[in-house]
Amino acid sequence: MSVSQVLIVGGGFGGLQAARALSSAAVRVTLLDRRNHHLFQPLLYQVATAALNPSDIAVALRRVLRKQENCRVVLGEATSIDKERKLLYLRDGAALAFDFLIVATGATHSYFGHDEWEKDAPGLKTIEDALEIRRRVLLAYEAAEREDDPARRQELLTFVVVGAGPTGVEMAGALAEIARHVLTRDFRRIDPASARVTLIEAGPRVLASYVPKLSEAAAARLRQMGVEVRLGEAVSAIDKSGVTLQSGERIAAHCVLWAAGVAASPLARTLDVPLDRAGRVLVEPDLSVPGAPDLFVIGDLASVKAPDGKLVPGVAQGAIQGGDHAAACIRRTFARPRARPLPVQGQRVTCHHRPRGGGGRDRPAAHRGILRLAALAGGAPDYTHQLPQQAARARAVGLGLPALSARRPIDYRSN
Ligand SMILES: Cc1cc2nc3c(=O)[nH]c(=O)nc-3n(C[C@H](O)[C@H](O)[C@H](O)COP(=O)(O)OP(=O)(O)OC[C@H]3O[C@@H](n4cnc5c(N)ncnc54)[C@H](O)[C@@H]3O)c2cc1C
Repeated sequence: MSVSQVLIVGGGFGGLQAARALSSAAVRVTLLDRRNHHLFQPLLYQVATAALNPSDIAVALRRVLRKQENCRVVLGEATSIDKERKLLYLRDGAALAFDFLIVATGATHSYFGHDEWEKDAPGLKTIEDALEIRRRVLLAYEAAEREDDPARRQELLTFVVVGAGPTGVEMAGALAEIARHVLTRDFRRIDPASARVTLIEAGPRVLASYVPKLSEAAAARLRQMGVEVRLGEAVSAIDKSGVTLQSGERIAAHCVLWAAGVAASPLARTLDVPLDRAGRVLVEPDLSVPGAPDLFVIGDLASVKAPDGKLVPGVAQGAIQGGDHAAACIRRTFARPRARPLPVQGQRVTCHHRPRGGGGRDRPAAHRGILRLAALAGGAPDYTHQLPQQAARARAVGLGLPALSARRPIDYRSN
């Protein structure tokens, strides 16, 4: 009997975890990614603001998996899935056959139909994005140092972040910190502390996915750090010299950053199954694709509800647990007959997340306390304890899935 082929598309948090969780399974695993590295996205903003280097938060996928003998890593970009013929097509025309497929290609930026804004307001998703943002921020200070016209100098020293979710809040906090603490003594003609950092949010509060009290605390802390927090104001235009708000107000800014919207990976559309408004696959409770029990979609690409009826947020822990669960479903396929009884009510997968206590040498900068506080109190995943060196070994911290059973709905609650 030939060995079953498990194809995993995407070596992010979800895909990498799935590959590792299959290390002892009697299957052949292929991990395909269009990049050769796993990226610890939660620390991207530190690269964007020059606090960390790319190598601190990226690690070669083949290095991570080099000891896993049943797994090979393939560099390539998936473009479509033929779920009937069980084939995955790549951009270069190649096709990979599979018995089981785990799709973990994550999400990308959404400019809400204004893709033309991207060149003037880059988002933060990849190392390339982070380096481009770093370049724009640092060059703005350099250009301001040489500028004689006060109005133009102010424009160069104005930084606008659009969107006050976790990424926007982190970016705005980091930009304020650079201006007020990091660069203060490095320039002769300008005072970096005079830089204006504006965070614009269309909704009524920052960190909308947290409880209101924590949003208020985060906004207050940002203001204390010198960030101008503008709530309930939508952006109507972005160009290379600034942003226009729906109210008609114009903010002249050389550097505008986008942190407002995400859209699911386009690969989902080729599955030809129902998607939610963000383009995520409406998966079955066991994360399989409706009508295709050997295909799984996990992480940011999956639209899945937790037992409390709320949508599982697009966070690393959800992806990691999804990877574990899909791998467990596949493992169980070989351990027991496929036809399994329905899950017993109340027996759910429970995942434990033990945040590391105490401070390390690379303790995150002060503003990260905002997110840490929000994460701990709100029950949301907290990755701020992850140190750069540990990013290379990015994986679940203390995640245990003891009672995992195939075809059982996943429980994403973090205890
Ligand atoms: C700036 C930022 C900060 C964040 N901060 C936090 C945080 O503090 N805490 C937290 O829990 N979460 C955070 N997140 C969210 C978290 O990173 C995501 O939820 C998580 O990465 C999702 O994992 P995933 O495996 O679904 O996708 P990803 O980790 O995005 O991985 C997708 C992988 O698929 C690959 N890929 C995509 N398309 C293709 C294709 N067509 N063919 C081949 N390969 C492909 C990509 O190269 C990538 O390696 C943050 C995200 C960002 C962008």
